Amino acid sequence: MKSLSAAEAIVAEVLRTAERHDAQAVKLVKVSLGELSGINIRSFASWFRTLSIGSAAENAQLVIDKEPGLIRCICGYEGQPDNVFGENDKLTIECGKCKSTFVTPMAGTDYCVKELSFGKA
Ligand SMILES: [Zn+2]
Repeated sequence: MKSLSAAEAIVAEVLRTAERHDAQAVKLVKVSLGELSGINIRSFASWFRTLSIGSAAENAQLVIDKEPGLIRCICGYEGQPDNVFGENDKLTIECGKCKSTFVTPMAGTDYCVKELSFGKA
């Protein structure tokens, strides 16, 4: 479950940062999710909500930015992939030119916290 482990990592990071800033409540969490990360936005968002219950991030507004994927293919193509199927460990990525799946992801494979804002509880 990649979406779950990503949500766990993000919530942990958000709470660590909130604690460091002595923040009682997290108002906004802006997350970037790569198109090729294998993370499903909807399940990520629902795990985020579940995991933040009872924490400082419980009522935070969650904003998700989808980062487009970039690949390099054996045919020489560099750019956005044509098709991205599936999720988790079965992600299949096709070249935008020759449809080969022998591609190397170059961007959009990761996730991170882009912005946080804190407030009083
Ligand atoms: Zn190709």
